[in-house]
Amino acid sequence: NFFESNPIFEKDIPVCRPFASSWDDPCPVKLNLSAGAYRTEEGKPLVLEVVRKAEQQLANDLSCDKGYLSIDGLADFNKLSAKLILGDDSHAVDENRVVTIQCLSGTGSLRVGAEFLAKHHQQRVVFVPNPTWGNHPFIFTLAGLSVEYFRYYDPQTRGLDFEGMLEDLGAAPPGAIVVLQSCAHNPTGIDPTLEQWEKIRQIVRSKGLLPFFDNAYQGFASGNLDSDAQSVRMFVADGGECLIAQSFAKNMGLYGERIGALTIVCTSQDVARKIHSQVLLVVRPMYLSPPIHGASIVTTILKNSDMYKDWTIELKGMADRIISMRQQLYEAIQARGTPGDWSHIIKQIGMFSFTGLNEKQVRWMAKEYHIYITYDGRISIASLSSKTVPQLADAIHAAVT
Ligand code: PLP
Repeated sequence: NFFESNPIFEKDIPVCRPFASSWDDPCPVKLNLSAGAYRTEEGKPLVLEVVRKAEQQLANDLSCDKGYLSIDGLADFNKLSAKLILGDDSHAVDENRVVTIQCLSGTGSLRVGAEFLAKHHQQRVVFVPNPTWGNHPFIFTLAGLSVEYFRYYDPQTRGLDFEGMLEDLGAAPPGAIVVLQSCAHNPTGIDPTLEQWEKIRQIVRSKGLLPFFDNAYQGFASGNLDSDAQSVRMFVADGGECLIAQSFAKNMGLYGERIGALTIVCTSQDVARKIHSQVLLVVRPMYLSPPIHGASIVTTILKNSDMYKDWTIELKGMADRIISMRQQLYEAIQARGTPGDWSHIIKQIGMFSFTGLNEKQVRWMAKEYHIYITYDGRISIASLSSKTVPQLADAIHAAVT
């Protein structure tokens, strides 16, 4: 009995979650704002109209089968995904120095990239923002890399610690991998301005660091796919190397389809070709080949100009609803005369608001108000509705007074 005799299984260690579980709470008005998932005004998950349309088209197409994809996934999906993040006029794409492979959403893309780097990159240190998405340290540590942090959030200003960030990146060892969230930073909702991105680019390049972009929210920050890709495109335009993990979970609402892509931008076609075969060697023993359905949906939408347009309209609708929820929450807090400056709620970008509430207050809100947010005080604004805003504002007011 190997498992029984292994001391690690003696204790029942709960799954490490950064939030209290709402599952056991029988309260009918409990509110779960911890997960980064978009909800409608009615509090329901949203399947985009354009996704339904693409699925119908696929169901009627008798030439679609359920056979294995190749190790790197659907070829059209890879081409179109690269274009989506790098732009129609990308020199890197035209010069065939871009490798894109279909992966299991953003997480899988990060993990394949991390495994590839752990195997082939000499510098084994990866710098992530402080704070960052909770899974980043797990992904890179498990791949065998050592994780360090660069300053990002300044709790005093509730804004970007830009000087601290530049200082830490400037002190990173040459070759260090730097994880940069391309837009709608999770959990802080704070993105650098374009001028700041340019300074970040300069320091990353001058210190010889390797940027690894996590592009989980393209379109969710501004409502515009091209605007949200500017940080990445700025780095790619300088001709240097980078990696990009792309997810269609949020912007196409394909969370459970696990569809995303890893792109590696190289400096020459020859290197790209060699990298491609090495990435295939990482994927093959891991899961052999990726799933077909999500890739087919994304490809159908990206390929068809009418569907693409419909998607951008629905995406903008989601982004606008989030912005309106921010405004409503801010106004509701103001109306209650809650002490403190809450303007960060409307200044922050994307799905989340990093409220500044501490763990004690968060736990108290769960107990007294049946509202669940992550222990670091992050609220998924995308899961709020006009109906639930007053409930949350009441809870915040009570928690801080
Ligand atoms: N990166 C960031 C910053 C995220 O917030 C998330 C999900 O919340 C992901 C990546 C991965 O998402 P998925 O694997 O669902 O595409």
